[in-house]
Amino acid sequence: MAKTVHKFSLTARIFIGMVAGILTGTLLKALFDDSGDFTVSVFGLTLSTYSFLVDGIFHIVGKIFIASLQMLVVPLVFVSLVLGTCTLSEPSKLGRLGGKSLLLYLSTTALAITLAVTFALIVNPGEGIQMDTDATFSANQAPSFAEVIVNMFPTNPINAMAEGNMLQIIVFALLFGIAMAMSGDAGKRLGEMFEDLNKVIMRLVTILMNLAPWGVFALMAKLFSTMGFDTFAGLLKYFFLVLFVLGLHAFVSYPLLLKLLTGLNPIILIRKMRDTALFAFSTSSSSATMPVTLETARNKLGVKNSVSSFVIPLGATINMDGTAIMQGVATVFIAQVFGVDLTLSDYLMVIITATLASVGTAGVPGVGLIMLAMVLQQVNLPVEGIALIIGVDRLLDMTRTAVNVTGDCTVACIVGKSEGELDIDVYNDPEAGSKQETVDFDHFDKNKPLS
Ligand code: ASP
Repeated sequence: MAKTVHKFSLTARIFIGMVAGILTGTLLKALFDDSGDFTVSVFGLTLSTYSFLVDGIFHIVGKIFIASLQMLVVPLVFVSLVLGTCTLSEPSKLGRLGGKSLLLYLSTTALAITLAVTFALIVNPGEGIQMDTDATFSANQAPSFAEVIVNMFPTNPINAMAEGNMLQIIVFALLFGIAMAMSGDAGKRLGEMFEDLNKVIMRLVTILMNLAPWGVFALMAKLFSTMGFDTFAGLLKYFFLVLFVLGLHAFVSYPLLLKLLTGLNPIILIRKMRDTALFAFSTSSSSATMPVTLETARNKLGVKNSVSSFVIPLGATINMDGTAIMQGVATVFIAQVFGVDLTLSDYLMVIITATLASVGTAGVPGVGLIMLAMVLQQVNLPVEGIALIIGVDRLLDMTRTAVNVTGDCTVACIVGKSEGELDIDVYNDPEAGSKQETVDFDHFDKNKPLS
């Protein structure tokens, strides 16, 4: 196959695509908006240039880009997790892996929201803001704990895959992988097939990543040509506070945790997260970004498949530190705007509920805001308050998604290191994983040479 040699690295190309998209979108909005622009004729249809570009080209390319990422999520999680489970040296490891990941995911989220509430109480983002009485927003009922646990077990794995129910897919893949490991030669033969499948799917991921600059360009151009900035007035304090705490968590909490718990150099992790963070930023979806997160964890950070195939999909499903940060600041903001005084036990309740809400937040755009309703209800705040911050949420959603996936990779490194499943040489190698051709995995049969 002919290989294209690019002058710039993939990160640089995605970044260029993003900036070019933002500029194009902003320019289109400034020049045309949706009125009074040029018209063009396509297949006998007369279209305005604005809608031809924004609702036509950018919309189609952006949607196809996100759909192709999402298309890989279910097969990737299933195949790599089955492979990861059946290659685990001891089955007892699985329980330990699950316990450690869960503990780390929940505690980093609790830390994130504690930081958010603390800074919001210092900065008072809602002070002096008038309440908009027209605002309306309705809350969804949160599922009970028992329901969450029972729902993790699929009655029909094909249905779970069709619906993209990640926790159910994870449970089925784990059980399937364990059974494979216990099935002797049959399991081994099947394992070799899964290994090949894994290779092919990962190749598809790298192909898609190379097309990302175009997808990112289209997504940004569409978003910025339709985004209104009028809602920003009055919300600037809230907006920048959320950004500040997101930055603090990503650049201080995670590096400190990584250093303290593993001794690894956190600067390397931050550098290697660039591509994944850009994907997360432009798609606003940790679920759609997951193929890229998994690729980074395995090939760039050196977290072996047996750990990364479990920890990363789990994180993309239940670990949303960035989302919890937005919820913490938003709760304080809404309480202040509506003139409600929250007590210390209310804040504790906010921390607990937002941590659990983060588990239930799907990794798709905007869901964090819907889950905020659950947090507000717990402390009797008006759910309509959410409508006040919707206007600035998209940009925050993009940024918090980048933090969410950084959290997933940090935890994957910590768990990987503690299990002896992190390749330090790969972690420290600045070039690791950047050569798209070398896709390397743990092998079912370690003695079998790569074909
Ligand atoms: N967009 C976020 C994610 O995918 C979830 C959210 O906060 O809305 O991680």
